Amino acid sequence: MNPVHIIGGGLAGSEAAYQLAKRNIPVIIYEMRPEVMTPAHSGGNFAELVCSNSLKSEAQDTGSGLLKAELELMDSMLIRIAKECRVPAGGSLAVDRDMFSAKVTETLSAMENVRIVRGEVRDIPADRPLIIASGPLTSDTLADKIKSLMGGGLYFFDAISPIIDFDSVDMTKCYFKSRYGKGDPDYLNCPMTKDEYDAFYDALMEAEKVAFEDFEKMNVFEGCMPIEEMAARGRKTLAFGPLKPVGLEHPETDKRYYAVLQLRKENGEGTSYNLVGCQTKMKTGEQKRVFRMIPGLENAEFLRYGSVHRNTYINSPSGLDDRFRYAEGFYFAGQITGVEGYLESIASGLIAGYDLALRLSGGESRPFPKECALGSLGLFVTDKYETTRKKYVPSSFHFGMLPALDERIKDKKLKKNMMAEKAVNALKDFLDNTEM
Ligand code: FAD
Repeated sequence: MNPVHIIGGGLAGSEAAYQLAKRNIPVIIYEMRPEVMTPAHSGGNFAELVCSNSLKSEAQDTGSGLLKAELELMDSMLIRIAKECRVPAGGSLAVDRDMFSAKVTETLSAMENVRIVRGEVRDIPADRPLIIASGPLTSDTLADKIKSLMGGGLYFFDAISPIIDFDSVDMTKCYFKSRYGKGDPDYLNCPMTKDEYDAFYDALMEAEKVAFEDFEKMNVFEGCMPIEEMAARGRKTLAFGPLKPVGLEHPETDKRYYAVLQLRKENGEGTSYNLVGCQTKMKTGEQKRVFRMIPGLENAEFLRYGSVHRNTYINSPSGLDDRFRYAEGFYFAGQITGVEGYLESIASGLIAGYDLALRLSGGESRPFPKECALGSLGLFVTDKYETTRKKYVPSSFHFGMLPALDERIKDKKLKKNMMAEKAVNALKDFLDNTEM
């Protein structure tokens, strides 16, 4: 059997490779790192999480919880490894990012029918079957080739937040607590009075930022909006948004603050912490100066600075079907298709790998049920669930992508739980009736 060629050993490429290789289909993964790096990755391992280390909530009445439940049902390698590498983060699945990508690399390298080729792919290979999963930071040469193939490409921008050394935090000013005291007190909180917040806000607004060509047209994904962009909406926006203090009163004094910055654990040992919501395009010297104005972070040691990068995605509705197939034996997967987020990228890699494996082993390919998250992501990239939007804009999965329930349910939580149950049942049914 001809091997499947997969460009990109990121989240989507790794999951697609596993779905094929575990069904005895030979795979070659082409990964340019560490020879050629992207602006966001830091090493050569597969499935590197470039920004947050969180795969978000595990509650099934959230989009991320439902996606994870479905991915587990489909035997997702990445979700299994994520659970093996988890670090405490309340109700979320956060991982030790180094351990996570090391384990993904080890697992794929140890599979008999997986070959790994390092180096940049500069053109779309003629070999089939092929999955292009080169991600939002696809190298320029390959991105140009993909753009010509698709008759034009689209861009938007994404941002990452700084990581600091825990030992440099002044713990006389900060405290551990999860919002409303729910779950383990995993988050580290830096509380601010109104004066401290105002001083921070002014410094943030005045700080020097990295200039972008065509900056005014920068189209930022809302969930990863740079802190200064959000702050520019109004003086109080941060205090009602990422720095909101509700449920974060001091655990000993019960004091309520004007604003609270939360820091999330980056690794199992808790030696490094991520400044939640502080993605930024401030210059690095300015990040140090401005974030050090936050109480407790006066001497913060920055292990990684925040930054903003270009994201590349194709106009999927003009080329892909609901299983991410562009042509016979040719798929795209991951964020390059316009699905947005770690889980969605894993999911699209899984769908493409599963569908290809099904066809290569003589099975009958069928769309995933529209009632489940995997099926609705397929409909999203083909633009079938949304008929009114003027242009194709990336999105993460949300319950609005699922068909409405037959009955009207007022209680939002109950409604989502019912939709999630329906989704999982539909997927189970699909699997029971699919021959591989
Ligand atoms: P990737 O994981 O990036 O994998 C693509 C792989 O292809 C990379 O390993 C790359 O080196 C390789 N590659 C690229 N070009 C070539 C080539 N020509 N030849 C060979 N190999 C090549 N999502 C979230 O849910 N949470 C976040 O916090 C978050 N932060 C992000 C921050 C930034 C800066 C960016 C850019 C994206 C972020 N995302 C985030 C979005 C998205 O979930 C991630 O980018 C995710 O890694 C996408 O998975 P992927 O498999 O599509 O691409």
